[in-house]
Amino acid sequence: MPDIREDEHMRKMKEPVRRENLRFGIDIDGTITQAPRHFQRLIDALMKTGNHVYIVTGRDESRRTETELFLAGCGIRYDEMMMRPVDWAETIPDYKVKIVREHDLHMLIDDDEANCWAIQLQTQALAAHMLPIPELPEEMVALLDGEM
Ligand SMILES: [Mg+2]
Repeated sequence: MPDIREDEHMRKMKEPVRRENLRFGIDIDGTITQAPRHFQRLIDALMKTGNHVYIVTGRDESRRTETELFLAGCGIRYDEMMMRPVDWAETIPDYKVKIVREHDLHMLIDDDEANCWAIQLQTQALAAHMLPIPELPEEMVALLDGEM
């Protein structure tokens, strides 16, 4: 009689590993703007491995074109950019909570403590608080760009 447990074990070993694709929300001002190169690398790596990246900004819809150009200039890719409706009557933390819930995001990276606390307290997502990054001196920037 064949050993069913062994068959089951072998079947599982041959199955592709199921990996949940994650959905990340990333703020722009004070977050991507503080470290565009780091975010470009991070986002590329996340998307290359099948995760989803949403730009979640308190900037309103009237700034869409300008903001898309800025992100393109930084080489930042994303699945979708969510911008606050021009007539949004509630707070920005309320807006971000709504987006995180609607898109069932796993994590929101944001520099604003009020946004992070709102996400932490009102959603299932994890808030990653972006700390301010000190400006690099020009010569360091040039080194990083390989211009020296
Ligand atoms: Mg911000």
